[in-house]
Amino acid sequence: MKKMLSHALLLSSILLFSACANGSTSNSSSTLLSETKAITTDTTSGASVQEYTDPSQLKEEYDVIIIGSGGAGMSAAIQAKDAGANPVVFEKMPIAGGNTLKASAGMNASQTTFQKSQGIDDSNDLFFEETLKGGGGTNDQELLRYFVDHSSDAIDWLDSLGIKLDNLTTTGGMSEKRTHRPTDGSAVGEYLVDGLLRNIHEREIPLFVNANVTKINQTNNTIEGINLTINGEEKTIKSKTVIVATGGFGADMEMVIENKPELKGYVTTNQEGSTGDGIKMIQELGGQTVDLDQIQIHPTVDQTKSLLITEAVRGEGAILVNQNGERFFNEMETRDKVSEAIIAQPEQSAYLIFDAGVKERVKAIDFYEKQGLTISENSPETLAKAINTPDKNLTETLESWNQAVADKKDSAFHRETAMENDLSTGPFYAIKIAPGIHHTMGGIKINTNAQVINTENKEIPGLYAAGELTGRLHGNNRIGGNAVADIIIFGRQAGNQAASFIK
Ligand code: ADP
Repeated sequence: MKKMLSHALLLSSILLFSACANGSTSNSSSTLLSETKAITTDTTSGASVQEYTDPSQLKEEYDVIIIGSGGAGMSAAIQAKDAGANPVVFEKMPIAGGNTLKASAGMNASQTTFQKSQGIDDSNDLFFEETLKGGGGTNDQELLRYFVDHSSDAIDWLDSLGIKLDNLTTTGGMSEKRTHRPTDGSAVGEYLVDGLLRNIHEREIPLFVNANVTKINQTNNTIEGINLTINGEEKTIKSKTVIVATGGFGADMEMVIENKPELKGYVTTNQEGSTGDGIKMIQELGGQTVDLDQIQIHPTVDQTKSLLITEAVRGEGAILVNQNGERFFNEMETRDKVSEAIIAQPEQSAYLIFDAGVKERVKAIDFYEKQGLTISENSPETLAKAINTPDKNLTETLESWNQAVADKKDSAFHRETAMENDLSTGPFYAIKIAPGIHHTMGGIKINTNAQVINTENKEIPGLYAAGELTGRLHGNNRIGGNAVADIIIFGRQAGNQAASFIK
């Protein structure tokens, strides 16, 4: 975990530095940003607390308190500010970004301007149907309807903030190219967090880190604010409305095992702040939880560093082979099914196999290479030797896969998407993977206004929740690219609703 954190710290420094270096900040940037500039020139020190609002500036009261600085929390803050409120963001970790920082594949959306300009004929109804199918039909259909209908608008909103997601790919379970990525095909999380933070700074929205919220205060069904520990000091801060955006509980192994005992022993891809705090605090106020046992394991996680290998690697053409060098499943099936198929192999692991073309199209692979996760060889035969797989098998697997791509027909496993390019350009690559705990799909019950629902099915006035801590949008299997869409769409909604609540 320590390793993950220091990596994230470093990443954040680099990100903020590049945000400054490319001149993408406006003249109205607060002094916070100039402090950022000065500090991040020293990337070895990691992200310093001074990038964020100084604890001495903490006030006793704010219009809207937002707990958590992932994509949901920051979207809510920007939207609340633009709707005329004065929000504050509290983050318990030393840096902003949460699990959002690690999001890789992209953001799903339908009927977008970028799809239209690239000739992709998609519809909100198809997005709805495929997400419902992927989620085993158990999704909250009202939330899902709101989600698909507001997805295109969310892409435009991000674009208006200088966050352009115009490079399209596919994830498992989706038949259209609706996963929106940064122009250069890089991982979405870092780019998104960088852009949202830049907008937070430009609007001079206070964002405190090392600020652990421990309780939401409520008297007579009225929200009164929160308690937090900041720099070791306990404080009570007042507000009439609170937005909880604390993410999931994938890093709290006790909570994971309590809800799904069979996951004991799995590695987690989550950052260490994802401990279900928001769910627990809302439960204390009588909030309702749904589907806490729906915990997604992601099929392609490097087990040495618990690092997730983005679905875009398969989306851009990679195949999966077992230790025998043979394909064993449709790689573009939904995450639950692919994970199950990997676990069914004798080694309970597999290799992602791809070529230089895939590497060129998925920038994240450069990062995996730097992390020492890729094995590369000039030919399929030597790659087979390097991963101790019968060389004939791997060569034959690649030959028959390339034939399937040429024929546009995968008779062996009926894969239908991500078959635009074959795997024939050396060097050839392998990454060893196995499933890991990734996303908690259950959580707090909300309505389409992002209001928290209590155990009597009534809204709790002034209390909003958005992002991974909420439940049932994804049903029993989340589609890759739908979490980023969730945090932006419902983060915005929570920010807007909280701002109108105080008017
Ligand atoms: P989402 O994708 O829903 O936005 P993230 O995991 O990206 O969720 O972000 C949630 C953020 O909330 C993380 O940065 C996490 O550290 C932070 N967080 C979790 N619990 C607390 C808490 N008790 N107080 C303040 N911040 C918290």
